[in-house]
Amino acid sequence: MRAFLDLLNRVIRAGNQRPRRFYWGLSLRVLERIFSIAPFFLAYVWLDDLLQKSGTGLEFAEIMANDGQILTYGMALGALLAGQLLFSYLGQLQSFTGAYELTGSYRETLIDHVRRLPLGTLQQESSGRLASVLTDDVNRVEKIFTHLTAEWVAAVAVPLLFVIALVWIDWRLTLSLLVTLPLAVAALNAARRFFLARADRKQEQFLDVSGLLVEFITGIRTLRLFNRAKIWWERLDRRFEAIRHSSMGVEAWAGGSVQLYRLCLELGLVALLLCGAWLAKSDGLAPLHWLLFAMVAYKLLDPLLDAAAFLTEMRAMARSEARVQALFDRPPLPESSAPTEPDGFELAFEGVSFRYDTGTAWALRDVSFRAPQGRIVAVVGPSGGGKSTLLNLLARFFDPQEGRITLGGVDLRDLGPDQLYDYLSFVFQDVQLFDGSVLENVRIGCPEATDAEVMDACRAAWCDEFIQRLPQGYETLIGENGQRLSGGQRQRLSIARALLKDAPVLLLDESTASVDPETQHEIQGAISRLIKGRTVIVIAHRLHTIQHADQILLLTQGRIIERGSHAELLGAGGLYRDMWALQTITQ
Ligand code: ADP
Ligand code: MG
Repeated sequence: MRAFLDLLNRVIRAGNQRPRRFYWGLSLRVLERIFSIAPFFLAYVWLDDLLQKSGTGLEFAEIMANDGQILTYGMALGALLAGQLLFSYLGQLQSFTGAYELTGSYRETLIDHVRRLPLGTLQQESSGRLASVLTDDVNRVEKIFTHLTAEWVAAVAVPLLFVIALVWIDWRLTLSLLVTLPLAVAALNAARRFFLARADRKQEQFLDVSGLLVEFITGIRTLRLFNRAKIWWERLDRRFEAIRHSSMGVEAWAGGSVQLYRLCLELGLVALLLCGAWLAKSDGLAPLHWLLFAMVAYKLLDPLLDAAAFLTEMRAMARSEARVQALFDRPPLPESSAPTEPDGFELAFEGVSFRYDTGTAWALRDVSFRAPQGRIVAVVGPSGGGKSTLLNLLARFFDPQEGRITLGGVDLRDLGPDQLYDYLSFVFQDVQLFDGSVLENVRIGCPEATDAEVMDACRAAWCDEFIQRLPQGYETLIGENGQRLSGGQRQRLSIARALLKDAPVLLLDESTASVDPETQHEIQGAISRLIKGRTVIVIAHRLHTIQHADQILLLTQGRIIERGSHAELLGAGGLYRDMWALQTITQ
């Protein structure tokens, strides 16, 4: 209960939207409930009145026919029904619109928050999980407002109103009806703890098995080739069996405890009848009271009987809300309040150290270097040396824990992320293509570019020829559901994007994909056009492509151990010379 109110408050606060309309809608729905139970009491008052008059000896039916009040009561009843209809209509309208306003801005805030998260965090998160939080979980949170709260308010409000009215008529009968309620609640509560523990374990098992399943599906080709598919299948099968087992346990317990709860509540009816009979005998209880209670009792219990089902639903929703909240709790990249303009486009690392949240060792340790404007700095080194990490920091996928990175003398943290990305182009190894035509995919580099400009960029990036050969040329759909492109083709498209964007700083991660020498030549041609006049940081895997770089940094275990021009490094006779010798032999 408390937790539920907290949850509502959290969502409302996160959405930063005044909940007035929503609360207004809820109040109207409570009014509707009041109007829906009032006719019972109206009838009771009327009958009571009539009975008292019949005490004078007149025939009951006669009194009723001659009673001048029949019109008044009839009209009152009509008014109650009309009011009920009106409030039901308005209440639904207001509470739904209010709920959608609230959850709409909750969604917007969440998306905006995710947009401001470090890209590195998003990269680490599996995209399936993130998508499921952003869609399924948010939908479930939305349902709390559109359905659950209104029904829950009704479930609490109706019995409460009934009880107040009934106590006023006869507190003893009311007490007898509710005597088993604490027992019912206790039964539900006792089962809850057990259920929670079980359900959590089930959830764990689900996550576990879906991870395994993804591995199985993505790796199935390899598994088949190595004749391992069957063993994996058996492993999966065992997990599924375990899930089935614990699901049945959860269902049995949940089902059992709900039945117990309902049974306890319904025992209240029996208590009511017994108590009524006893009171009628000993205390001369009016049959009319008894009748009213018997009629109203079921209507009172009905929402309480349904409440048990809510509880299960509420828990699922609360869990969804917790997952969304966890996403909200991720700190976004600090955004500078007063973004500073860089003075030129020299890049510099000043004593930068960085380690991943998940890692224990430093991925980069005390790295300092300068890349003057318009110059090329190449980064080489063994795998795991920290090359990709260095580019990730430059692209502000993460911020370093120590030291600072500057562009034109301004700390990247003071630039504001959107501004930073205006100055940067990337050509990374894994080129992302989106569902859309070739033209649209390249235009991402510069949304305002005309078709002619996009095609110019493609020609400069040596893409034009293969694009012309696609079934619909520049209009061919590529990406997720489109034409498959080779690694070399994708890379050239991403070079075309970068050319079109024409940013002053270029981050380049050379492909390790093995391409035939001719394609390699074309890619190199495209790259040499792209790097002209820009500040470039390039990760190189083939040393001969960076012989002419202005400076070469050799990174191992997160530290720069050698630096200088190609000639200087060869002369120094260190690791670089060995790597060079090895590569020229294997060429
Ligand atoms: P390179 O690109 O030179 O091969 P990386 O920058 O990818 O090297 O990796 C540097 C170090 O950081 C390695 O020890 C690697 O294991 C670690 N590392 C890289 N990415 C992550 C990550 N996302 N989480 C934790 N550790 C990482
Ligand atoms: Mg790497």
